[in-house]
Amino acid sequence: MQSKLSNTLRQHFPYFFSPNSQGRVYLDSAATSQKLQSVIDITQQYYQERTVNVHRSSHQLAASVTEQFEQSRKTIQGFIGAKSHKEIVWTKGATESINLVASGLAKGHFKAGDSIFVSALEHHANIVPWQQVAQANELQLKVMPVDANGVLKLDESLQLIDSTTALVAVGHVSNALGNINPIAAIIAKAKEVGALTLIDGTQAVSHLAVNVQQLDCDFYVFSGHKMFGPTGIGVLYGKYALLEQLPPYQLGGEMIEKVSFERTTFQPPPLKFEAGTPNIAGVLGIAVASEFIQDNRMVMLAQEQNLYQQLLATLTAIPQVRLWGDKVNSICVMSFIVQGVDQYDLAVLLDKRNIAVRVGHHCAMPLMNVLGIDGTIRVSLAAYNNSAEIETFGTALIECISLLDDSVNQVTADDTVF
Ligand code: PMP
Repeated sequence: MQSKLSNTLRQHFPYFFSPNSQGRVYLDSAATSQKLQSVIDITQQYYQERTVNVHRSSHQLAASVTEQFEQSRKTIQGFIGAKSHKEIVWTKGATESINLVASGLAKGHFKAGDSIFVSALEHHANIVPWQQVAQANELQLKVMPVDANGVLKLDESLQLIDSTTALVAVGHVSNALGNINPIAAIIAKAKEVGALTLIDGTQAVSHLAVNVQQLDCDFYVFSGHKMFGPTGIGVLYGKYALLEQLPPYQLGGEMIEKVSFERTTFQPPPLKFEAGTPNIAGVLGIAVASEFIQDNRMVMLAQEQNLYQQLLATLTAIPQVRLWGDKVNSICVMSFIVQGVDQYDLAVLLDKRNIAVRVGHHCAMPLMNVLGIDGTIRVSLAAYNNSAEIETFGTALIECISLLDDSVNQVTADDTVF
C-alpha cells in the first residue's frame, strides 16, 4: 500500500512486506506491535549462532553472550533514564513486573488500614494484583475517578491521596482510551504523603520519552512486545534501595549467593529477582528495540501526530461516532462507539475487509462500567502506519455502518410483515 506521507520507518518492519500481509490494515498496535527487522535478526542470531546460557559457563561464547545480556540492561537503563543498570529487572512482561512488586510489598510493607490507589483507567494487570493484596491484608483499594469522557479527574484524585495511602499504582497511558495521565502531579502528591508509586508504562514507552529519575517514581514497568520487541520479555525498574528491601519473587538457580540444606542467601538486585534461565533472546531483542525508538523518536512522533490528526478528522466527520478519552493529551489511540450499531458486528465487518481493530473492554472492565458501556472499538496506531491506511479504514467504516443500518432497516421491514 502506498503512503501519501512518505513513511521511511515502515521499511524496518518486515511484516508490511510479507505476501500474507498485503491488503491488510493493522490498527491494533496497542495489543501488540509489529516487530523490527533488527529485533528478528538479533533473536535469530542468538538461536542460530550464539546459543548458550548466561551467568553460568565460563567458555568464550557464554562470556560474550553474558556480556551482551548485561549490556542490554545498560541500554534499557539509558532508555528510561535510570540511575543504575542494577535497577533494571528482567521479567516476562508488565504483568509479571507488577505481580513481582505486589507480592513483595504484601510481605511486610503494608499495615492494616492502609490504602492502595489505582485509577479508574487501569488495565486489569494493574488492578487485580493490588485488589488481591488489599483483600488479603485488610487494606482498602481506592480508585481515582474519571469524567464522562474517561479523562482522569486530577484535582479530585489528588485530594483523595492522604496519609493512609501506602501506594499509588497508575498507568502512564491508558491502553483502552489512549489518554496520557498527569503522572508527574500524582507522583508528587504521593511523595508528599510518603506513599510508594508504581507507574505502568506499558503503553507509554514506544510513544513518549520517559525519564524515571525526573519522574521520581519508585517503580516503572513495561513489556517488550508493545515497543516493537519480542513477546515474553518485560522490565521492572525499581529504585535500588527499594529493590534491596523487596523479598525475592521466585526461588531457584541464579538468584542465590550460597545454598546449603539449612539456609540460602540471595544475590543482590537485580539478579535476586531473576530465578532460572532468563529469556535471553528477549533481552537482546528489547534492547535493540529501545535503541531504535531512541534513534527515531522525533520522526516517529511527527508521523504519529499526523496520523492521529487524520484519524480524529475521519472519525469526527461521522455523525454516529462517539469518541472517548482525551483528544489532546493522548497517544495515537482512538476509542469510539458508533451509536445505533452493535460494536462487535462492526468489528466483524471491518475484519472481513482486512482491517484489524480491537473491540471490547480492552482488559479494563471497571473503566467500561464507570463509563456505562460494554466496550469500545479501539484503533491503535504506530509510526509505521500510513495515511493511506487511515483512508482505507475511514471508507470501510462508513461502508460498514451503512450496511449495519440497512440490516436494521431490513429487520424492521420484516418485522412489520409478521
Ligand atoms: N498494562 C497496560 C496498560 C497494558 O496495555 C498491558 C497489555 N495490554 C498490560 C499492562 C499487560 O501487559 P503484558 O500482557 O505484556 O504483561
